[in-house]
Amino acid sequence: MTTTTAFEVLPAVSSFLDKPRHKLLIGGQWAEAASGRTFETVDPSDGRVLGKVAEGDAEDVDRAVAAARRAFQGPWSRLSPSERAKLIYKLADLLEKRSEEFAQLETLDNGKSIRESTRGDLPLAVDLLRYFSGWATKIHGETLPVSVPYYPGAKFLHYTVREPVGVVGAIIPWNFPLLMAVERLAPALACGNTVVLKPAEQTPLTALRLGELVLEAGIPEGVVNVVPGYGPTAGAALARHMDVDKLTFTGSTEVGREVVKASAGNLKRVSLELGGKSPNIVFADADLDAAAKGMFMGIFYNQGQCCSAGARIFVEKSKFEPLVAALAEKAKTVRQGPGLDPKTQMGPLISKEQLERVLGYVEAGKREGARLLCGGERAPEPGLKNGYFIKPAVFSEVSPDMKIAQEEIFGPVATVIPFESEEDLIAKANGTIYGLVAGVWTKDIKRAFRMAQALKAGTVWINCYHFVDAAAPWGGVKQSGYGREKGPYALEQYTQLKSVWVDLN
Ligand code: ADP
Repeated sequence: MTTTTAFEVLPAVSSFLDKPRHKLLIGGQWAEAASGRTFETVDPSDGRVLGKVAEGDAEDVDRAVAAARRAFQGPWSRLSPSERAKLIYKLADLLEKRSEEFAQLETLDNGKSIRESTRGDLPLAVDLLRYFSGWATKIHGETLPVSVPYYPGAKFLHYTVREPVGVVGAIIPWNFPLLMAVERLAPALACGNTVVLKPAEQTPLTALRLGELVLEAGIPEGVVNVVPGYGPTAGAALARHMDVDKLTFTGSTEVGREVVKASAGNLKRVSLELGGKSPNIVFADADLDAAAKGMFMGIFYNQGQCCSAGARIFVEKSKFEPLVAALAEKAKTVRQGPGLDPKTQMGPLISKEQLERVLGYVEAGKREGARLLCGGERAPEPGLKNGYFIKPAVFSEVSPDMKIAQEEIFGPVATVIPFESEEDLIAKANGTIYGLVAGVWTKDIKRAFRMAQALKAGTVWINCYHFVDAAAPWGGVKQSGYGREKGPYALEQYTQLKSVWVDLN
């Protein structure tokens, strides 16, 4: 072990961070940005610069898309599904072997606790690659019995083929940088596509390190290209690119609307995983200990920076006071610090900008008359003053129409809302523009299923929260987006269907 931060990191992490500059991965080569520009990525726990990164822009996106096109038409499409599967599996093995290194790098760049990186992000990323490598050999069409009523007695063989879409552009956010990258790469590659990945400007490091593993795994040059850069430049260039066949975007609903507009030029297919303001609902008959834990983890996991955060906590009136008090008590005891400190339970927010945004929402909540039970201010500890730390906040007496109960805060701010009856609740729970996930805590099995039916969300968790898996589809309804990542349904996003007729007459 060597030391490059206040905490020990693996030699592989130090030597990666020691690079004078992290370059773009285009066509299997590490390249400077055409403009020669770089940007800095920082450790959000203390604002220290972690590295300089080549700043991709439209010209670099052009080069990356051209490389992806060449790889798609060349080596990648010549490989059999089983050969593709082996390469993806190999990438999973390499990632698994270097899990500790990737967890440290992710924690440094994003701020999340090392426990979350190690126990959550890394095993899931490895599993996603393995799951989709298995699918590579199982993507198939069907034979369909056609009748052709205007040609009585005619005989045809009709079959469908699932073909790769081509070049996939993937724009991902900073909250789960590696996981999001892999969640896009794994199905795209399994289906036979090539990819241009644009990581978020706040967290480019694990995607770039993953690019090194892609080459080490023997995945042909140009199959995976990584072009870090800013959203309005590199991101927008990818979204509007005329030779990108499919765009997968994860980020804010606002930017989601922009990329849909930008995609219109060549009518590329788009899938969107956008914001949320998800209800996490506790009925009085629930296992209250489990529900209390679920309320806490639902909103505070990853510093609340989850699109699926259980940000609107609804509690049945008879249990409202004790549960909200318990949530605030627990929030007050959360140990904050740099993610690499094994004692840290909650790291910093991603950036100064995000910190100010979240503080602004706390002020809005107070102005609107919600009662702030705890937190909501910058962490006062002297050791944390250079980082973007905010004390986890709990607002009680929130009414569903308040700004803090309607807009996605993307930070550790819980809004707790009482309800009296199921009918009253359902209207409130569904009463936002979003529909990503919902949680329900109850021991009444009929009620659980009634709620699963009534809640407008892409995922409903009953007596659990924040569970995800490579096999379970993920995506939203309403303004939380469209399309599904993960599970067999992801294959639909990354393939297109061809219909073939053979005249047998
Ligand atoms: P957040 O608010 O969580 O940062 P964004 O939606 O702004 O979410 O960012 C998610 C991803 O979208 C990032 O990779 C970002 O660089 C990219 N992005 C931001 N603006 C645009 C844009 N106008 N066009 C394409 N991509 C963008």
